[in-house]
Amino acid sequence: METILCPPGVPCRLGWWNIPIPLRIVFFVTMAIAVGIMVYGIVQRVRLWRKGLPEAGFDRLWARLVRTFKYAVVQIRILRQRYPAAMHLGLFWGMVLLFIGTILGSLDTDVFELIFNAKLLRGDFYLLEKVVLDLAALFVLVGLGLAIYRRYVVKPDRLNTDWRFNFTLPLLAFIILTGLFVEAFRLAALKPAWAPFSIVAYPLSLPFRGLSEGAAAGVHRVLWIIHFIGVAVIFATLPLTNLFHIFTSPANIFVAPFRVKGALKPIANLETAEELGVSKLTHLPWPRLVNVDACTECGRCQAVCPAYAAQQPLSPKKLVLDLRGALTETGRQRIETDKRITAGSPDHLVTQSPGHPSTGSELALRPLPSTSRGATKGQALVGDVIKHETLWSCTTCYACVYECPVLIEQVDDVVDMRRYLALMEGDIPSSLATTLTNIERSGNPWKQPKRKRGAWTQGLDFEVPVMKNVGEEGVDVLWWVGCAGAYDPRNQKVTKAIAKILHVAGVSFAILGDEETCTGDSARRAGNEYLFQTLAKANIETLNQYKFKLILTQCPHCYNTLLNEYPQFGGNYQVMHHTQYIEALLAEENIKVRRGSVADRPQQRGGDQPQHNGRITFHDPCYLGRYNDEYEAPRYLARSSGLELVEMAQTRDKAMCCGGGGARVWMEDEGQVRINYNRLAQIQATGAREVGVACPFCMIMLEDAKGARGVEDLVVRDVAEIVAEALISE
Ligand code: SF4
Ligand code: SF4
Repeated sequence: METILCPPGVPCRLGWWNIPIPLRIVFFVTMAIAVGIMVYGIVQRVRLWRKGLPEAGFDRLWARLVRTFKYAVVQIRILRQRYPAAMHLGLFWGMVLLFIGTILGSLDTDVFELIFNAKLLRGDFYLLEKVVLDLAALFVLVGLGLAIYRRYVVKPDRLNTDWRFNFTLPLLAFIILTGLFVEAFRLAALKPAWAPFSIVAYPLSLPFRGLSEGAAAGVHRVLWIIHFIGVAVIFATLPLTNLFHIFTSPANIFVAPFRVKGALKPIANLETAEELGVSKLTHLPWPRLVNVDACTECGRCQAVCPAYAAQQPLSPKKLVLDLRGALTETGRQRIETDKRITAGSPDHLVTQSPGHPSTGSELALRPLPSTSRGATKGQALVGDVIKHETLWSCTTCYACVYECPVLIEQVDDVVDMRRYLALMEGDIPSSLATTLTNIERSGNPWKQPKRKRGAWTQGLDFEVPVMKNVGEEGVDVLWWVGCAGAYDPRNQKVTKAIAKILHVAGVSFAILGDEETCTGDSARRAGNEYLFQTLAKANIETLNQYKFKLILTQCPHCYNTLLNEYPQFGGNYQVMHHTQYIEALLAEENIKVRRGSVADRPQQRGGDQPQHNGRITFHDPCYLGRYNDEYEAPRYLARSSGLELVEMAQTRDKAMCCGGGGARVWMEDEGQVRINYNRLAQIQATGAREVGVACPFCMIMLEDAKGARGVEDLVVRDVAEIVAEALISE
């Protein structure tokens, strides 16, 4: 058969060359067992995912496929960092090509030869396949080399090593190398004229070309056996090792919910639900259980987490792995439950979750290892596995979610567990509890009376209209000042600057005055969904009384809440951040500024302002940048008067949080290393004497850092203040 299909002199694949039939049978049986074990492990984990709450994971099929292609095949987030990108792309595409090569080989031998008496891998196509597969093996080896060097020599903090990595990385390298040597000894034995097309195996074969055909074939067979044992082991152990992400990561990307990134999911049936928030994994929708298994342990999230950098007890990577550990423990307990049920003991009922009764024997789980050692039997998810201080350390800055290559949503996990603490346990940090009480009673965190919301307008040389005094005709712009803009003395200056700009531009606008109340951003992110929904519904009712074209706000947190979260309760508005609106006013020449008015006249700025060196840097607010993709408008304002804009090392979508988001602005911080101190150091490193901000919380946090660190040669200004200062009024 071989000489007919592969006549001498024709490049052609010799399927099962040198492998006798009994050995082929052993191969098939062993591989079937190995793949069976792998499938069993995967199925057990899938059954555990199914214990989550119902949620759509297979609707909008086309959109899901496109997303999976973008993140799992093209891997656009992995491409953001050069070294890991080179490493992962080498491994991924090398393995994909080798897999395709294996399929082609099987088709050639087991379909084309057996059924059609023909060859698929023959002639030029075969030679091309040789080149491609050898290159693929080389890619994998380079990828493995980069991975091993980084994990074991460079050892960045974000990467961990344990038996799984110690096992899989060398084993993969072993499989690839034995595969290449199998090929090399085949070439050494047969010495085909086209051997150089095996561009990696051929050079390896050269030292062995002096061997007799029998000796080379003997070594070939031994190496083939060793190679296939390695392949079988990697298949059988796959659900236990880090390689499991080959399945879980694309699965997670596929089933993840489609969502507006700035909008937290509301708690449904808030008034009647018996369980609020998440205190058990079974309280999570099932795609969120896939989430915790999808983690590749790449540590990108940890590397960008400002809380981790400030030595706070939070690593988003550890958070996910601890949840995975808890999921594994759930599986272990269910195995025990299974055994007890089989033995006739009724105490399996202790493992039931309220509303989600144990299905007992339907689950028997092969546990997955985790770097987490926190999840052991009897431990509470919130408090033991995930510590309270971990949850309260998060600023919800979104940096981790933004970086995660496999679309894991740590912020949702944090807020859901905070919801449990706030709504079921009433267990929240005392300073935050005071703030939430202030919001509940006074409608603002400052505990100021409502009637003083418009007090900032006193002393202005023009009138600021109030909506309730505006007639039926309404206004173009309803200006949502926000609590900080209305009550915080430093931010009141920003508010006045914006008022001046609107006045000079002749904008038809009005504020709500004492009808405005907190949007509820902090309450929602602190887990008090009840307070948030109460505020949201009241605000929407107020807003819906009036006629206006758009809402303008200077607070990115209000902006995000009004734009992305109020639609959940029927409040659909066009919302603009003040930087966007002022940029439009400048672009359309509704206002004009004197260029050079700040940088060229440092001595005229007077007072206690430091000497200006003409350079400004800009600190991106998370809720304007990462959450809502606005990076240009504030920079346009920062440069408008002629200042030179210098960027920080971590800027735009990589910007470090100021430390004030996620209700953290209202919490006491005891540490010597703080997020706002770290950000201040990054600002100072630019050499700029001024930092532009575009968020009242950033203003508070950076002014606080400046004061605490005794930094005197730096001005913190909202970019609207820069425009207002340079405004040509006449
Ligand atoms: S949202 Fe920000 S602070 Fe919270 S875990 Fe992620 S990176 Fe860390
Ligand atoms: S959560 Fe995402 S970014 Fe963080 S370690 Fe896991 S895969 Fe990497």
